[in-house]
Amino acid sequence: MQIVFLGPPGAGKGTQASIVCRRFGLAHISTGDMLRQAMTGDSDFARGIKAILSEGGLVPDELMVEIVSNRMAQEDCKNGSLLDGFPRTIAQADALAGIVDIDAVVYLSMELEALAQRIASRRVCSSCNTICNMQLLDSIEMICPDCGGELIQRDDDKMETVRNRLNIYERATSPLVDYYKQSGLLISIDAAQPIEAVGREIVRVLERLS
Ligand code: AMP
Repeated sequence: MQIVFLGPPGAGKGTQASIVCRRFGLAHISTGDMLRQAMTGDSDFARGIKAILSEGGLVPDELMVEIVSNRMAQEDCKNGSLLDGFPRTIAQADALAGIVDIDAVVYLSMELEALAQRIASRRVCSSCNTICNMQLLDSIEMICPDCGGELIQRDDDKMETVRNRLNIYERATSPLVDYYKQSGLLISIDAAQPIEAVGREIVRVLERLS
């Protein structure tokens, strides 16, 4: 099964992708995680990626297509994969169509207004990458509920960057909703529901496909 997750930043793609990948045995391909990993090195390439991410901009299409097609050729993707954060432009979607046949595009829809707040409350575990909402944590200590690691705010989750990411989403990525609607692949899910309800709905719809 080849699945794409589409939706604005903060709609819960990463969290839901983990649930769905566990349930269906898919490889989770998060381009955001791959780029954050790539920017840790000490090279011009790493610094270039870091500069783009810290402004909330988009990494060039050709580079993204190369990264994703290399990743999809790896062994763990043979049973299917879930793309989380790719494609983000029409050019990337066109390129993806030449790489693989997609079974479904899950669109996590949410009002842009509510998203900025949700992203600003988001914290990520510095050791296991679990995503938490600060407002939903039981304790005021910034400790990961899964592994006890330190919870931190991603640089690109800071408010100035968030605004830019939402604007770029509107301009470059939201046209993909119509793009995939026209090809009959789009499944819309209301991402403003509680996390568990969103997860159950996605799994129910995908079970019908598998
Ligand atoms: P994410 O974790 O998916 O929100 O991605 C974090 C950042 O990585 C984005 O704000 C972009 O700067 C970059 N990025 C991730 N995926 C892509 C993509 N498909 N095309 C261009 N840039 C991307």
